[in-house]
Amino acid sequence: MDQDVAAKEQPRYIKLNERDNVAIVINDFGLPAGSRFASGLTLRAFVPQGHKTALVDIAEGAPIVRYGEVIGHALSPILAGDWVDEARIRMPEAPDLDKLEISTAVPAPLPPLEGFTFEGFRNTDGSVGTKNILGISSSVQCVKGTMEYAVKRIRAELLPKYPNVDDVVPLTHAYGCGVAINAPDAIVPIRTLQNIAQNPNFGGEILVISLGCEKLAPERLVPEGVSDAIVRMQDEAFDGFGAIVDAIMTQAEARLKILNKRTRETCPASALVIGLQCGGSDAFSGVTANPAVGFAADLLVRAGATVMFSEVTEVRDAIQLLTRRAINADVGRALVREMAWYDSYLARGGADRSANTTPGNKKGGLANIVEKSLGSIVKSGSSAITGVLAPGEKATQKGMLFAATPASDFICGTLQLASGMTLQVFTTGRGTPYGLAAAPVIKVATRTELARRWKDLIDFDAGGIATGEKTIEETGWDLFRLILDVASGRTRPWSDRWGIHNDLTLFNPAPVT
Ligand code: CA
Repeated sequence: MDQDVAAKEQPRYIKLNERDNVAIVINDFGLPAGSRFASGLTLRAFVPQGHKTALVDIAEGAPIVRYGEVIGHALSPILAGDWVDEARIRMPEAPDLDKLEISTAVPAPLPPLEGFTFEGFRNTDGSVGTKNILGISSSVQCVKGTMEYAVKRIRAELLPKYPNVDDVVPLTHAYGCGVAINAPDAIVPIRTLQNIAQNPNFGGEILVISLGCEKLAPERLVPEGVSDAIVRMQDEAFDGFGAIVDAIMTQAEARLKILNKRTRETCPASALVIGLQCGGSDAFSGVTANPAVGFAADLLVRAGATVMFSEVTEVRDAIQLLTRRAINADVGRALVREMAWYDSYLARGGADRSANTTPGNKKGGLANIVEKSLGSIVKSGSSAITGVLAPGEKATQKGMLFAATPASDFICGTLQLASGMTLQVFTTGRGTPYGLAAAPVIKVATRTELARRWKDLIDFDAGGIATGEKTIEETGWDLFRLILDVASGRTRPWSDRWGIHNDLTLFNPAPVT
């Protein structure tokens, strides 16, 4: 056994901030009672990997500090070396939205990063795709089976004739009818469908399949100036199902011909629109994967790209750290607006932000949503926050944006696609096979053990940061280069190699009828 391996097997913990009175155990599978760290601290109980141990005695009611922030208070006296599990922590109240500092600590602009490019598909509106896909929209769930039948035939009979087109993707969903279409919040699912159809990866070629009697008029999914983009099943000209499918095939082929003329060309990295998300988080998320993503996000921002982070319930408890970074008061107030909207949305449903943490999060060492949030927002890097998008709004700004979405992986992915995201970076500690048909997803593991075990599902291992084998900077640069490779089609992420993709999942905060 060489010295490096022996060193790795020594009991080790990570303390992130000098104010912290807890640290997390790094060793795979945890450490038994009696384990002695280099600092002299001895564990009084078994502590699972990623879980917290007290570095000092913590009195009943005293704050428990991680990331330099209070993640809760001790429900009973805690001794140095104890396992600080969720049952020993009382969660604090969420920050008061009326008392936040706005734009008080705006980071200075980061030095520009020149010369980085990717091979993308340029669109006439100036946007650039990372894939060349025919996306077929639908105005109502009623047509889903028909669309899938047609898409199966398009893939088998037409797609092979158009080799520059990567795929045909049916944009099916559960919305469109049986819904309060004029309720104020109905704008969220409607805007999402309108904007997804215009995602840069679809090359501006829009085709909508409609039933004909649904509440969501298909015209609403077609931008002004685009004609002949709707196939209505109830159209009296159609004599049977075969004729309807033929019409869809004809319309699809017309668009495949146009899309097939697209080829990849060298584009500046500033044309990228990158979405950031996490799912199946653990206590390492905020130590390895999210800091590496945050570093890569700073590089992207420096290169002039658009980057968005999301997941309101994973931001709410750290919002005081974000409003300070807002580039101006308008952006700061927009952050507060999105938090307040979500607070009232949750309250209407009789829930609060504590509904976020999953059993897997807790098993992975995250005691509560405060600890999860502090680790989650690290993805946003260190630049100023330059814009805020309401759910499903299209991004028009460059820089680091907050795109307000639920934390649900599929809903967040769907809303970021609507905001124009052309590639997503997804961090995971517990592991998930998550993927999107419309944009490549790079899955980043927080731990090397997961990256090894799921060698054919995880695209990038950030675990070396915890073991000290790699720095955040090195890992962040590696991830940045991988983003450029995947955006260029040079490297295919595992979800695309296997063809495993999650459904589009609309966020509909409005009533159904
Ligand atoms: Ca998520």
